[in-house]
Amino acid sequence: MSVLDRIAREYVDLVLTKHQYHDVWDVYWLADTIFWKREDMHVDRVNRHYPYKPAPAKSYMSLADIVYCGKLLLKEVEEQKKLLAGRELIRAVFLAEHLRSLIVKAKLLQGEKMPYDVFTAEMYALTAPPFSGSDLKKACEDLSAALPGTGSLSERIGAYKRELLIPCQKLPAVMDYAARFFHEMAVENMGIKNECMPRIRYWHYGNDIDFVTVLFGYDYDLISLEQNFNLDVPYYLDNIREVAGHELEPGHFTFMNLRTKGAIDYGYPELGLNLHAPSSAFIEAGARLTIELALDTPAKERVLDEKLFELAGTDKKYLESLPVYRSFTKQANLGKLEIERKLWDGEWTDVQAREFAAEYAIDYDDVLRFAKDAGHFTSHSYSTDVLRRYYDKYGRSTEEKWKIYTLLCQQPFSMKGIEDGSFDPFAFDARL
Ligand SMILES: [Zn+2]
Repeated sequence: MSVLDRIAREYVDLVLTKHQYHDVWDVYWLADTIFWKREDMHVDRVNRHYPYKPAPAKSYMSLADIVYCGKLLLKEVEEQKKLLAGRELIRAVFLAEHLRSLIVKAKLLQGEKMPYDVFTAEMYALTAPPFSGSDLKKACEDLSAALPGTGSLSERIGAYKRELLIPCQKLPAVMDYAARFFHEMAVENMGIKNECMPRIRYWHYGNDIDFVTVLFGYDYDLISLEQNFNLDVPYYLDNIREVAGHELEPGHFTFMNLRTKGAIDYGYPELGLNLHAPSSAFIEAGARLTIELALDTPAKERVLDEKLFELAGTDKKYLESLPVYRSFTKQANLGKLEIERKLWDGEWTDVQAREFAAEYAIDYDDVLRFAKDAGHFTSHSYSTDVLRRYYDKYGRSTEEKWKIYTLLCQQPFSMKGIEDGSFDPFAFDARL
């Protein structure tokens, strides 16, 4: 066992210790041993809201002690970085970024205040640039021209969304098709086995949980997963492809699958763990971009949209405004980031933030929905722009971009290096 192996184990242990201060979703993926095969099942069929194996309970440790231990480990990693090269250095950088994230999150839980940009730089190794209103303003104007009718832009968006709502009884047909489509993308472009197609189920949960994902079996290349959709939640045609491609394959399902393989292949326990950290900023961006990679021409987008509209029984005339609407939502997400930052830094009151949202037809409820996920719009929306730029720098074709995504899913990386473009995605040589 190397010094880095020891630090990695202590990092994982410290994360699980910190977990006692969070709700159950902090650590959302844990391969607690570097297993080849899952031999026992931990699925609570009675508890449909949280059917998972809970993260192992650790003994009590104060947040101050967690910060202290995190800093000790970080200091050690920084020392190691001076001695290492190649693959081991990349691992050390990955651990350092994740330790910084652990420390700053523990400080936040202690009630420490810090500027938004300082927090996201430590938490996700990302700093979003200052907001420029011009792109969002332009997106509003374009959307306003594309959506007919009277009333404010927000009202017209509301009316448009109602047309895009997938009737509950049609959801299974639409979702089954979209899930199969994106599964085939993962098979074709990421080497995923066809047998890994998740089982899709539909329930009336009677609450607002979108879906519940359950891992049933794992045998390295073969994974048995189930996705349970809640029929009591509205799903819309503009982003149903996200619900399928982002949440299932080649998005989060595939990432967890490959990450676990990485943990086994290299014996890195830190890859068996996922939580809000630079890793989550990568997977959110990576999952969003799988849609762009799978549908890399407007013609391909159109073919899939037409099929989904057909299955939903929705009038295809509403397809025409879809590209403009999607461009608007991308820009609106950066507007939400600005709201998040200004509220965090105390520069805006709630009233001022609502005024800004109303001016740009931003759904304020969406900002409130993610209020508990500190730095949400940096780790989701800004990170997507960062990763898109990164793909463009290192990938000359869509095929090469798929390759980069596949590699980064199963290997350590530097999120900071992805942001500034200095991290070489091919540098971690798996053959050594
Ligand atoms: Zn996601």
